[in-house]
Parts: sequence; C-alpha cells; structure tokens
Amino acid sequence: MKEFELIKRFFENKGPKRKDVLLGVGDDCAIVHSPAERDLVVSCDTLVEGVHFLADMPPEALAHKAVAANLSDLAAMGAEPAWMTLALTMPRVDEDWLEGFSQGIASICEYYRVQLIGGDTCRGEQLSMSITVHGHLPRGKGLRRSGAKAGDNVYVTGYLGDSALGLMHILGESSLNEKAAELALQRHYYPTPRVFAGQVLRDIANACMDLSDGLSSDLGHMLERSGVGAVIEVDQLPLSENLVESVGREHAIEMALAGGEDYELLFTVPQSQTGVLDLALKEAGVKFSRIGQIKSSPELNYRLDGKAWRSQAKGYQHFE
Ligand code: ADP
Ligand code: MG
Repeated sequence: MKEFELIKRFFENKGPKRKDVLLGVGDDCAIVHSPAERDLVVSCDTLVEGVHFLADMPPEALAHKAVAANLSDLAAMGAEPAWMTLALTMPRVDEDWLEGFSQGIASICEYYRVQLIGGDTCRGEQLSMSITVHGHLPRGKGLRRSGAKAGDNVYVTGYLGDSALGLMHILGESSLNEKAAELALQRHYYPTPRVFAGQVLRDIANACMDLSDGLSSDLGHMLERSGVGAVIEVDQLPLSENLVESVGREHAIEMALAGGEDYELLFTVPQSQTGVLDLALKEAGVKFSRIGQIKSSPELNYRLDGKAWRSQAKGYQHFE
C-alpha cells in the first residue's frame, strides 16, 4: 500500500468534523478558523516503541494513550481541545494494526471533539508517533504550574499508582490475579485525560499540571516553578482498593508517589475557594482528594499519620 492510499484509508475522514476546520487532511497544510478573543494553547508529545510502550501493546490502546497524553496537557492548562496532527513512523505497513490504531484515534477524538487535521507518515526502523494538539481558552485564563501560593491546599483528581501497577504486570514483576490485572491494565492502557475538570478549575485553581512522570517528581516541578514548598499527607493519597489489595499499603503509597502515567491533575486552591471547588468538581462528577498544603519554605516533606515519612520515590527521567 502506498503512502497516499494509506493516509486516505486510515486518517482522512475519520473522527469528528468540526465547523472551525476550513481544510483538513489532504492539502499541504490544514486551515482552521481560530476563535476571536481566545488564547491558543499548543502541546506536543511523542511515544517511541521500547521507551514508552512495548511492541505488543494493542493498537487501539496505543492510539488512546497517545491522544490522551496530549489531551491531558491541554487539560492541565484548562484548555478546550480542538485540533490535532499526527506524525507516524513505522517499520512497515501492517493493515490490521493500522485499522485498530486509526479506530482508536477516531474514538477518543470523537468523545473529546478533536479533529485530526493533518500529519506526516514515514518509514523508520522503530514505531513512533508524535501528536501535536491545539486547544483554546478565554484570553489570559490559562492555568500554569507556577501559580502555587503558601497556604493553598494541594489536590489531585482520581486515583494514583494504578497505571504503575499495570506496567508492573506487563513487565512480569507482579503476580496479580486476573481481575486485578485487568483493572490495572485498563488504567495503564486507557488513562482518562481530565479535560472537563481542567476547564472547571480555570477560575478556581492557583496552579495546575498533569501527572505524567509521578507525583513526587511532578510536584517538585510545580514547587520549583512557584518558588514554594509543600507538606504532603501520604495517608490522604487516593489509592484504589485494587492497588492496596495487590501490593499492600506501604508499597501502594510509594507507587502513588513514584509511578508515572496516571494523567490525573495536580492542582492548588486557595483556602477561600474550597467551597467553590467542592461544588464545581462534584457537579462535574470528578473524584478529587486533598493531599496536603503549600508552604512558603521551599522544601517537599511527606507525613504519615502526623509523623515525618521518608519516601524512596523518584519520578521517571529520560536522561538520568
Ligand atoms: P506534504 O508532502 O505536502 O507534507 P504529505 O504527503 O506528507 O504532504 O501528506 C499529505 C496529506 O496527508 C497532508 O494533508 C498531511 O497533513 C496528511 N497526513 C499525512 N500523514 C498523516 C497522518 N498520519 N495523519 C493525518 N494526516 C496525515
Ligand atoms: Mg510530508
């Protein structure tokens, strides 16, 4: 199959059609109508076989995860997703794989109303994909990781550590029963980008980011950017029953701190906005937990049942 046939069959006219796309896949560039009075928000994320995923990852899951990781970045800013491009490098044309992959892309794009407006397809030794998403938000309203202030409460959405449990299972480093493995794999393969929560938080949070490398490392970045510190109550970390039952409470805490790819939001909210936050996220149907507080002295401390707690956690870094 030739490159152009491939693009036409798998990537043209798949997923939703947006009115603000004047020209999509098929020309030299896409043309979109950018909304007046709004800021554009752009992010790019790459997945490489052997680094971010293993060769046998189901193509639907891979597609979901690649898009979800990008949408999660938009969510962290409070942006509404709109368009994306996909650069795909493959060793060969595998039609069954492409069928699953393109279906996976179309499904998540449909749900979040993102249109695939272009990309690039080429041959290369290793499977890899790079997605760029574009979204927008009201002018000047973008959330940043640099806005945390002393006294803010620190929150996360959802549960932490389940994706890491899924990865442990894939790597054969755990002996989960069938049900536990299925739950963990689901969280690892199909993370939920917190797109709607992010938009709700725009007017409530002082700082926000998404959790891709692990709480301890990502929170470290937020604190550094904000010039503040924090105390985290590790007994308040949201741990799923599945995680605690599978590895025990202590290990579950470490996995929640160090495990990557949960794609939950980490955010800080001033005390005065606590009531608004409760209402807004309940209304949006998003689980969230208070896990600690921002402090003025620039250090990150963990506490368990009121006592200092030393974490072994280190997040993922590519060039260590
Ligand atoms: P050009 O050589 O002008 O860059 P290409 O031949 O690379 O164009 O691509 C032809 C059209 O198909 C372009 O509109 C491009 O955006 C789109 N396209 C190529 N690969 C993909 C892909 N993987 N997903 C979506 N659109 C793609
Ligand atoms: Mg090209």
